[in-house]
Amino acid sequence: MRLLVATRSPDKSAEIRAILTGAVGWTITDLDEEGLVEESEEAGLEPFPTFEENAASKARWFAQRSGLPTVADDSGLMVDALAGAPGVHTKRFAPEPTDLPRDQANNRYLLERLAGRPPHERGARYVCVAAFAASPAVEPITFRGEVAGRILAQPAGKGGFGYDPLFQVPELGCTFAQASPEEKHALSHRGRAFRLLRAHLERLAPG
Ligand code: IMP
Repeated sequence: MRLLVATRSPDKSAEIRAILTGAVGWTITDLDEEGLVEESEEAGLEPFPTFEENAASKARWFAQRSGLPTVADDSGLMVDALAGAPGVHTKRFAPEPTDLPRDQANNRYLLERLAGRPPHERGARYVCVAAFAASPAVEPITFRGEVAGRILAQPAGKGGFGYDPLFQVPELGCTFAQASPEEKHALSHRGRAFRLLRAHLERLAPG
């Protein structure tokens, strides 16, 4: 069976493929491989207050568009000192307009918002929800993964993407941007959510 990984983020796509590759009974495909070019409607697929609703909205829409079993990811950062913000608004955290690419602007803004906070007030967690639509006709089901860490006062490392250079993980003793992809996936919010999905997919596959 084919599974469509429905994300426009090359970074997310690479991580999801790495985590799902080898799932028994499934072959992974993506939006580019299926020739599904970006449509303006996609910008409005995640207006909801929860990761679950946004992930399900994306999975439902792309399953209907492709006719394939589809998975979508909605993810973000919840910072304790900011009462859980930016949460579902993580991608558009830094106010517009900005002179920097979005990820860099977001990281700079996060550092500004936490300026002067001591390490014990810099706790945060990443959240990832994987939503799986088995067909265009059924409601997606969701799987949530989380990882706790701390926001550093300055970036460290060049790997990963997004907020990774600022997100220090206690179990690793470094940021996700300093870890190998395998180390990141073993602990990350996305690794946790998509391993739950993978187990579900393998239960569905014909024996
Ligand atoms: P989404 O497309 O609404 O899910 O946006 C996710 C936001 O969270 C983007 O700003 C990403 O850069 C950020 N994000 C999600 N997962 C990660 C991760 O694993 N590392 C770094 N940033 C992430």
